[in-house]
Amino acid sequence: MRPKTLITGGAGFIGSHLCDRFLHEGHDVICMDNFITGRPDNVAHLIGDPRFRLIEHDVTNYTYVEGKLDYILHFASPASPIDYLELPIQTLKVGALGTHKALGLAKSKQARLLLASTSEVYGDPLEHPQTESYWGNVNPIGIRGVYDEAKRFAEAMTMAYNRYHGVETRIVRIFNTYGPRMRANDGRVVSNFINQALRGDDITVYGDGSQTRSFQYIDDLVEGVWRLLMSDESEPVNIGNPDETTIAEFASEVVGLTGSGSKVVFEDLPKDDPQVRRPDISKAKAVLGWEPVVKRQDGLQRTTEYFRRELEGSLQD
Ligand code: NAD
Ligand code: UDP
Repeated sequence: MRPKTLITGGAGFIGSHLCDRFLHEGHDVICMDNFITGRPDNVAHLIGDPRFRLIEHDVTNYTYVEGKLDYILHFASPASPIDYLELPIQTLKVGALGTHKALGLAKSKQARLLLASTSEVYGDPLEHPQTESYWGNVNPIGIRGVYDEAKRFAEAMTMAYNRYHGVETRIVRIFNTYGPRMRANDGRVVSNFINQALRGDDITVYGDGSQTRSFQYIDDLVEGVWRLLMSDESEPVNIGNPDETTIAEFASEVVGLTGSGSKVVFEDLPKDDPQVRRPDISKAKAVLGWEPVVKRQDGLQRTTEYFRRELEGSLQD
């Protein structure tokens, strides 16, 4: 009998790539989403596949699926800063209540659950690069607190179900990930810069651009998630690309890559914006034999082609 996997947030950027991968691995896949930040379009190519089901549902409410379930990937949550700033209560609810519902379902089905956590649990980190043993520097009442604290709660809840109910759980701490199917207007730096460059608009660097991020391509993340789910590791594992860049350097890189005439402008730095971020991936290497393989230039090229097609499509509409 084929394994059956539920992917919450499956119509989002990352979730939709996971639907592809798990179907490819021979699983039956249920994609559950309320489309608050995701789009049915992201999984439109899977409709009609008898092994794929799309269910519209808000996972902060009672969540149930018929029949057996082997795996749950809990990816439902707004993830881009402008999304979770616009949806603060929904973000807290899906991280807290949604994770509780997903864990309850895992317990009742004896399924293994993997939680999508985030490098944001490290906040504005005082340890650099960030190892899994670092507890973080998060402002609970700051504007990003709604996301960071929801994910910290989600990790605590996941460990509690693991320890007290014996549910098999995995926690992936995902660092900035990019690729096709991001929304052009999701406000994240990769989608903003590429779309600004393609349109010839100003490239908006926030602050002086000295803050750093480390970007991983979606395919590397999906491989890391697959390996973690199939491993025996129940404590959190960082999955990210340690190739760190300043945001100012990144702006120049995007301008160069797209051959754009855009100029770089500087705007106010959002509150509580982390100064640095780079994963220490020693644990993923040791435990999962995983490391990223897609170079930033290649990943950006593929993402630029995607956004170019999207832009041409929207101009034709
Ligand atoms: P996304 O917004 O594209 O996807 C999230 C999906 O969850 C959307 O389809 C949305 O409609 C759905 N969703 C939100 N609330 C829901 C609810 N209550 N019920 C059902 N569905 C709901 O974002 P993404 O970048 O694909 O992120 C997916 C997951 O990965 C999130 O949990 C996010 O915190 C985590 N993550 C992403 C990154 C990144 O760089 N993209 C980094 C760290 C962690
Ligand atoms: N950023 C920027 N210009 C933009 C969008 C974002 O300079 O148009 C900066 C943002 O302030 C942060 C970094 O880029 O320092 C990454 O932002 P993103 O929203 O992608 O994710 P974060 O890592 O902050 O969650």
